[in-house]
Amino acid sequence: MVITSGKKRNDASGDRTGPPRPGESARDAARRLAAEDAARTAGAAPHAPDRESEVVPDDAVVSPDTPVPDAALQLRGLVKTYGGEPAVAGIDLTVPTGSFYGLVGPNGAGKTTTLSMISGLIRPDKGEVSVFGVDAVGRSREAKRLMGVLPDRMRTFDRLTGRQLLHYTGALRGLDAATARARADDLAASFDLGPAMGRAVSDYSTGMTKKILLACAMIHAPRLLVLDEPFESVDPVSAARLMGVLRGYVDGGGTVILSGHSMSLIETVCSRIAVLVTGQVLAEGTVDEVRGEMTLEQRFVDLSGAGAEGGALEWLHTSSS
Ligand code: ATP
Repeated sequence: MVITSGKKRNDASGDRTGPPRPGESARDAARRLAAEDAARTAGAAPHAPDRESEVVPDDAVVSPDTPVPDAALQLRGLVKTYGGEPAVAGIDLTVPTGSFYGLVGPNGAGKTTTLSMISGLIRPDKGEVSVFGVDAVGRSREAKRLMGVLPDRMRTFDRLTGRQLLHYTGALRGLDAATARARADDLAASFDLGPAMGRAVSDYSTGMTKKILLACAMIHAPRLLVLDEPFESVDPVSAARLMGVLRGYVDGGGTVILSGHSMSLIETVCSRIAVLVTGQVLAEGTVDEVRGEMTLEQRFVDLSGAGAEGGALEWLHTSSS
């Protein structure tokens, strides 16, 4: 785990997951522990890679350029700059297969930009994205087949009914009509959208739209779900249902990476998290490792450097009438 409290790190390689062993560099230690994690979580799942899981010896040192075996997702030196300002400033992350991975950070930290580079919606300026070993930048079509994506901005064919949208998405993903229909019915039931399936998606509430788009992201049974703020605008009952569906997906061998702002939801659902601040990973590890002796919310505020400073709006307290 890395925790760099209160200050930005320019070194993307550092002490990511634990203390190095004697003679081992921090970077090698990070690689080794990530590889051990990946080896631990790989295996039994129906979504697991076709090739046999590799067993990583306890003392294996993985070279910085070697893909971690059985990682669902690996980011290496990922950079995206807008108008000279880095939105993502050199991110390294490994998401083990079968994990529920949370990406948290304050507004503008670079979460959406990172997830958009993973899902192929935008191209990185620099760096690598590997999805189950497939280079997602160079072989994006192949990588996209492995992923289901819930983007941040929910543009869709909303004149279609929920049932039509699911069916259409299934057809685009290569499903035959009978399979698409059967899966659409299953997903509608799982997300409690049954009664709304005959209505135009444009008439859905924000939370319902999120649910139908998540269902669309899942219809081709992807191995990795990339979800930008799936719980935003979703009521607690629907959030619990949605969480149940995602847990079932992970229990069945799927991998989820999601972003969000609700620390209580993130710590309930995620096995690992990364805290992103100004485009850099300031902490990464299991939820317990990252929060340490604090609550996750306190740790988040601490890392964000967002003190609750008052006084700037003193004029608000003076009546103008
Ligand atoms: P939030 O929690 O508010 O959704 P975020 O962590 O998802 O924020 P991003 O949307 O990734 O943050 O934005 C990171 C930075 O990149 C911000 O400063 C944002 O203004 C900038 N940015 C993102 N997209 C663009 C764009 N298309 N053009 C210019 N700047 C952009």
